[in-house]
Amino acid sequence: MYGPLLASLADDLDLDAVRVGEVALTRRELLGAASVVAEAVAGRDAVAVNGSASMETVVAVVGALLAGVPAVPVPADAGESERAYILRDSGAQMWLCDADTDADGGSDLARHDINVGARGDAVFDEPDEAAVGLIVYTSGTTGKPKGVRLPRRALAASIDGLADAWEWTADDTLVHGLPLFHVHGLVLGMIGALRVGSPLIHTVRPTPAAYAEAGGSLYFGVPTVWSRICDDPAAARALSSARLLVSGSAPLPVPVFEKLTALTGTAPVERYGMTETVITLSIRADGERRPGWVGEPIAGVQTRIRGEDGRLAPHDGETLGELEVTGPTVFDGYLGNVEATAKVTTGDGWFRTGDIAAIDADGFHRIAGRESVDMIKSGGYRIGAGEVEHVLVSQPGVREAAVVGVPDPDLGQRIVAFVVGDLARTDDLIDAVAAELSAHKRPREVRVVDELPRNAMGKVQKKALLSEL
Ligand code: ATP
Ligand code: MG
Repeated sequence: MYGPLLASLADDLDLDAVRVGEVALTRRELLGAASVVAEAVAGRDAVAVNGSASMETVVAVVGALLAGVPAVPVPADAGESERAYILRDSGAQMWLCDADTDADGGSDLARHDINVGARGDAVFDEPDEAAVGLIVYTSGTTGKPKGVRLPRRALAASIDGLADAWEWTADDTLVHGLPLFHVHGLVLGMIGALRVGSPLIHTVRPTPAAYAEAGGSLYFGVPTVWSRICDDPAAARALSSARLLVSGSAPLPVPVFEKLTALTGTAPVERYGMTETVITLSIRADGERRPGWVGEPIAGVQTRIRGEDGRLAPHDGETLGELEVTGPTVFDGYLGNVEATAKVTTGDGWFRTGDIAAIDADGFHRIAGRESVDMIKSGGYRIGAGEVEHVLVSQPGVREAAVVGVPDPDLGQRIVAFVVGDLARTDDLIDAVAAELSAHKRPREVRVVDELPRNAMGKVQKKALLSEL
């Protein structure tokens, strides 16, 4: 039904496929290099790929996909023990990496150095769309990273849904510098380009200067990338000719949305997804771009909100509950963890995201945060951290804010805010929250910090903040 996953590698083989930094390959060259990998990995149950921001990673993943062998991208920034855990947990039988990497794939794994200049011509049949294409580990924001089995169908359906929503075609040039070990950069940003046929320029690092120079039509970034671009107005203005600036992986703060719109003349498009569902929601290219809202389900996907009382929430834009998803983009389970999979599956087979959201009458979604870390239970109230953070970052001098619930003998949890900015006093911030929201939503304490702990995708690590208290 979805046809070959890497559809563009079938035609016009002299066109540019991917550039990573200074290294560029046409479709023919990429196929040639990847086919050597495909021969090396054929028949294995799974292979691990060192997820560095390099052409070697692109060639390794494409090779595994051609051979129909599940590829396991290993975060390039993983420490020894995280890498060892992923290699063990995934059951990978080979370690694919660039020759410069000294990261050891583990002594009992066969190491295969990728050569992007190699040219093979082995041809493989397209695997079944139900076959696992990738095993991607979650970011580990709320616990230990979990291996997510993504069927090829989920990859294809996600990309097709975005191509439809964004009018993404082979006439676009995609630019990003995101990690190639999470679904954002790897599935949407790399496999997506090869499916749609738009050349990819990967900037190795997502810096404002690199984005400004790249000259693409479609740009992907996480909120920190857009925030840094706003701090570099010349770089931001260089993006005014782009067709779409897309943000995802974490909430895009409204002030960043507004500044980016003012500087580039183009309002960013926000979309929402997660490893287990690849992509679920997006603003459409021709749709309304409403700051703080992530749009509607992509084609083929359905969503619903389960309120605290267990009933489905009305589409009033207000009632919050857990977002549930069904459709072809949903994973087929955590690797080797039937229990964890059962926990996130409803009786009628929908996926429970663990994110709290509301849907309005137009079908637009607003993400309020994660049930486990962003829903604070204080003094008998349920308070969304995002709501408080939104008021804080709207105050003068505040650049970033993260709000957590800290165990408290009186209140159950007490609201503590961490803010980054030039701030002489913090009482005004507490007053602003009390005035704009309500007294019970005000932070009991505001701490000014130099920066918020974030992972490679720009996600705030609230566990780390809590451990500082
Ligand atoms: P773990 O599951 O291991 O705790 P994680 O959930 O951070 O880690 P990912 O699958 O990489 O791992 O991230 C998905 C999460 O990112 C979503 O569940 C959601 O909380 C958040 N997210 C993604 N896009 C957006 C967005 N546009 N707005 C708000 N949150 C987003
Ligand atoms: Mg998660």
